[in-house]
Amino acid sequence: MNERNSTSRRIIVLREDVSKKIAAGEVIERPFSVVRELLDNSIDAESSSIDLYIYGGGIKEIRVVDDGAGMNLDDLKICYYRHTTSKIVEEDDLYRTMTLGFRGEALASIATCSRLEIVSFEKYSDNANRLIVHGGKLISIGEYAGKRGTSVRVSDLFFNMPARRRFLKSISSETFMCRSIFLDRALPFTEAAFRLFIDDRLRYFFPVQTLKERVCAAYSELINPSLLIYKEMETKNYKLKVVAGDPSLVRRDRKLVQIFINGRRVNDYSLMQAVEYAYTGYVPGGYHPVCFAFLKIHPELVDFNIHPAKKEVKLKDISSLRQGIIGLIAGELCKLPVREHKLFGEGDLFREAANAGKGEVISKGSFRNYDTHNVRETASMQAITEAVSNDPGINYQSDSVKYLGQVFGVFLIVFYGNRLYLIDQHAAHERIIFDELMKKEYSPQILLLPIDFKVTEEEEGMTEKNIPLFKGLGIGIEKKGKGSYVVNSMPEDFLLLETDELIRFLREDAGDIARIKRKIMDTLACRLAVKDGDKLDEITAVELARKALKLEVPKCPHGRPIWFSLTKDELFKIVKRV
Ligand code: ADP
Ligand code: MG
Repeated sequence: MNERNSTSRRIIVLREDVSKKIAAGEVIERPFSVVRELLDNSIDAESSSIDLYIYGGGIKEIRVVDDGAGMNLDDLKICYYRHTTSKIVEEDDLYRTMTLGFRGEALASIATCSRLEIVSFEKYSDNANRLIVHGGKLISIGEYAGKRGTSVRVSDLFFNMPARRRFLKSISSETFMCRSIFLDRALPFTEAAFRLFIDDRLRYFFPVQTLKERVCAAYSELINPSLLIYKEMETKNYKLKVVAGDPSLVRRDRKLVQIFINGRRVNDYSLMQAVEYAYTGYVPGGYHPVCFAFLKIHPELVDFNIHPAKKEVKLKDISSLRQGIIGLIAGELCKLPVREHKLFGEGDLFREAANAGKGEVISKGSFRNYDTHNVRETASMQAITEAVSNDPGINYQSDSVKYLGQVFGVFLIVFYGNRLYLIDQHAAHERIIFDELMKKEYSPQILLLPIDFKVTEEEEGMTEKNIPLFKGLGIGIEKKGKGSYVVNSMPEDFLLLETDELIRFLREDAGDIARIKRKIMDTLACRLAVKDGDKLDEITAVELARKALKLEVPKCPHGRPIWFSLTKDELFKIVKRV
């Protein structure tokens, strides 16, 4: 995989045929856009230390000081022209670059709408130089005293565009946005140190540190380091690093579900969804986990050039990324010690956040009435047994479900109503989830990244027949041409299906709508259920057993029995005790 390419190549003016291929757009909307572009440039210059200064919400002044590669006098002379960059030359480079910038537009846009001053000391030069441009007009350029690296000062933003200035928000909200973009940029680049000063007060200092340390430092008021897990994996196409929160860290919003691709924070719905799926069964509906996923993908498999601010991204092979994320996180969550498996544990976060009055981290009390299908509850054993014995749905001889343990990594041993039960945890859970999924209402959701697929001539008839049936399930499919289709909407829950699986269903003789629905729910239930070998804490086990024993059809969706039971008499007979 390419490493970040350096800026030691000299700045050139892009040929028109190349610059035309670039998603054009207004790059500078407000102060935080300046911050974003300047930090990008310092990171691209391979700096090891980057300081950001914000004054008056960034409207008065933004300054970024780095110790990176720098620019020489020739570079400085043209760096603020449109389409000047040192990062790409040919159109093909657009698909190869690992740098954050490549369009050569940022300094040009900033220069036209502010007073810009750049002092830069390039690593091969003998001295520093200074460039001053006001509202796009060159004021001065020449030798100047300065340190190695580059210092860019942007003041009086939009001084020459009163209409733009009127659209700016309050100083505090502009400051807040600048701070957020600073965190987004600093998080993935742990090999550089970052500092943020707001009106000369140091607000963040991140030394060179590990990813987990950086995440903790960035959100220290919300995250207790002992509640984070770090894990990484690599395939031939991508590298994934995850800093995942313990399930006891949950929030009302998705602010701390963050996805980074090649150093950029992206709002990719389907990858965020993958993170949330991994936490299914740990975090209740309506709440969101804390998890940071950092992907490094070969630049040929990702296209940032579709959005002017590079916030959106086009990814090839999204389903393998999704699987990677789900697998890595879920694999770690199930290893957590039983104590930490509890959703509503005494996570320090609750207390800390409550004390700090920051974030919307949930409080324990809000879960009292939460009915889980497979989620760990914090209610005491007593509360559960009370609930069970008050439940008119079960004919009780004894007053509770008594959990005795787990054997062979699969069976829960439970005593209930004068019988000893061995319950297959996976099969039982699968059935419970399956029944719930079958009952649920599904409403379609437009896919950010529609799924294209092709079928052969022989399969086409079948696919045509399936389309209206799938529509009945909220899966919207459109024909694009002969043998070529696109799935452009489906219910959120179905996103856990592998693209290949979904397309296989579409090509096959699916039968009627009921059969298709069963097939989909069956696949989802199997994926979401606890696996053989998963260790369950007592409360979860009791809850699962209780629901399993209440099932109308005590068989898994494939027809296997879910439990085996014995009475005392039967057991005595087996050992010939009578
Ligand atoms: P881009 O980043 O897309 O190339 P910019 O307008 O942001 O375009 O910057 C133009 C050029 O100026 C960059 O390609 C780079 O060579 C140079 N440059 C800008 N900022 C810095 C910096 N902090 N250190 C070194 N070079 C820089
Ligand atoms: Mg740039």
